Amino acid sequence: MAAEVLDGKAIAAALRERVRDVVARRVAAGGRAPGLATVLVGDDPASHVYVGSKRKACEEAGIRSIHHELPADVPEADLLALVAALDRDPEVDGILVQMPLPGQIDQDRVLAEISAGKDVDGLTPVNAGHLAQGRIGVREALALEAEEPLVGLVPCTPAGVIEILDRSGVELAGAEAVVVGRSILVGRPMASLLVNADATVTVCHSRTRDLAALCRRADVLIAAVGRPEMVAADWIRPGATVIDVGMNRTEAGLVGDVDFAAAAEVAGRITPVPGGVGPMTIAMLLANTVRASR
Ligand code: NAP
Repeated sequence: MAAEVLDGKAIAAALRERVRDVVARRVAAGGRAPGLATVLVGDDPASHVYVGSKRKACEEAGIRSIHHELPADVPEADLLALVAALDRDPEVDGILVQMPLPGQIDQDRVLAEISAGKDVDGLTPVNAGHLAQGRIGVREALALEAEEPLVGLVPCTPAGVIEILDRSGVELAGAEAVVVGRSILVGRPMASLLVNADATVTVCHSRTRDLAALCRRADVLIAAVGRPEMVAADWIRPGATVIDVGMNRTEAGLVGDVDFAAAAEVAGRITPVPGGVGPMTIAMLLANTVRASR
């Protein structure tokens, strides 16, 4: 294998340790532990697993977890009232409403009840706007404790990718970056973070012509598509850094959007699945909760 494998698990563990330290120091100085509210609607097994691991991670970091579960058929008004109450609660620093929501509920209306300062998923238009308008660079996205007030919160997965790139010494200024995927959760904020870090960014999606040729231009290639092993080795420029955000459950187990074994022969650096971007997402949620409580 030619490529250096970027160990997201280790980078995430180090970030969680830093979060735990910040919280412990704050509590030792007589401050309040940050609080994260999670709201789970319905009984989707995957969502229960995700929220369960987020709550456990909070506990390990010394962050207070406040949890609410609502039935799948809950009227939208009841969910909006709960989120509004959490938004007013001074003990709650961050609010996470686990997606997807049942069909009767309008996700945008729910997000509209969350103040930008408590939006630890970085999904509200205000936070997305700060990122898109270039007010959140790598330093602002990653700083746990900064002197200046918080500008905005960035979605956890793309912020996690930036942390991996930063910790691995990948130069972004002037680099050609290609992001495959344009979702609000991953692709778009990823592209904004890379632009803000002075990369030259191309965003690809399902209507992109000659995807392979565009990917081959990338010094930094980010795959956030949701198609198992779609990115082939001959889409990768030799020596490029390849970040695989994909998490696809197949009969062969969990696989990414990149054909890892073949791609690792060509790339200079690559993230594995599992053990790459995945562990960063929860670590960044804890970090965002600490940022929100500043
Ligand atoms: P999504 O909302 O389904 O977006 C997928 C994007 O890929 C869309 O922009 C879509 O284009 C594009 N796309 C689909 N098929 C394509 C094709 N054949 N060629 C080029 N582009 C194509 O998914 P997402 O939420 O961004 O997630 C992407 C992947 O990341 C999934 O595997 C998800 O499980 C994973 N994920 C992982 C984490 C983590 O913690 N590691 C977190 C979030 C997501 P259009 O816009 O044209 O439809």
